[in-house]
Amino acid sequence: MTARAGWLLGVAVDALTARERLDNAIIDLVELGQFPPCHTEPDAWFSDSPTVIETAVAACLRCPVIHQCRAYALADPRTSRYGVWASTPDPRQRDVLARYESRSA
Ligand code: SF4
Repeated sequence: MTARAGWLLGVAVDALTARERLDNAIIDLVELGQFPPCHTEPDAWFSDSPTVIETAVAACLRCPVIHQCRAYALADPRTSRYGVWASTPDPRQRDVLARYESRSA
């Protein structure tokens, strides 16, 4: 296996692991009778309207799985390229937050 193939495999495994953690967190939430806000009004998370997007961004801040959601969005940037993920409508914002957090850890 080439170094690049190994790196790509590692990226894919990280994305799958992050997705599994997010799915498990959502399952735990559903078992408590709750849903992430984006599961009740999904269109708002992919709206073209800045006002609607701001509503989705604010709703994410109350989401119990926001940390798992952001970890997944960072691990799988292709899937999370569009829409609001973890209260950030722009993937570049997630990158900045991740770099900031890694420096403060
Ligand atoms: S944090 Fe993620 S899972 Fe929660 S509402 Fe926002 S986009 Fe949905």
